[in-house]
Amino acid sequence: MNDRDIWLQAVAAVAAEYRALPSALRSRVDELAASIRRAKGGLHRLAEEMRCAEICSSCGGECCVRGKYHVTVIDILVFLAAREPLFEPAFGRESCPYLGGSGCMMAPSYRPFSCVTFNCERVEGGWEPERVSEFYRCERELRGLYGALEELFGNRFMHGLLMNCERDVMGRGEPILRCVERWVDGNYDQ
Ligand code: SF4
Ligand code: SF4
Repeated sequence: MNDRDIWLQAVAAVAAEYRALPSALRSRVDELAASIRRAKGGLHRLAEEMRCAEICSSCGGECCVRGKYHVTVIDILVFLAAREPLFEPAFGRESCPYLGGSGCMMAPSYRPFSCVTFNCERVEGGWEPERVSEFYRCERELRGLYGALEELFGNRFMHGLLMNCERDVMGRGEPILRCVERWVDGNYDQ
């Protein structure tokens, strides 16, 4: 099985499991996903106001060389919750499989955690301390939201979607989104 096959199987598994969630749980996932989009948008704005687009385009995206495991189950849930069509990765190249002809295939509010929270010295070097503090406050908030989804499903997602598929679905024959039985409609017991 190549990377593209694993990607397709992983995306299909997460989409099917998301659609089968009890409605109360799916609503909770949608709320968290909306907060994740807002937090990522806020992080991107803080960098954009300091001309990160210009700096990154003159660098040519040096930090976008390896990204295969950057997309997580959570990022797919954010696309599903927003009913946003998913992109088509290009595996088997030197660069990140999610890098298209005009930059990342994902809009800033949908990019993986490790991408939206990373700024190299060229980007962040000239920032005033208040902007740096605000950026890392937003980064902690985003980390908390990712953690809340991991807790909700009793699973670890930060090693990447492909890893979850290989380990959970292909390796153990288990679902990726677990602990769902606690959320049977009208019967949630925290
Ligand atoms: S963050 Fe730094 S390394 Fe990455 S694309 Fe921007 S300038 Fe280049
Ligand atoms: S996912 Fe997008 S931002 Fe992240 S490394 Fe790949 S191309 Fe760059």
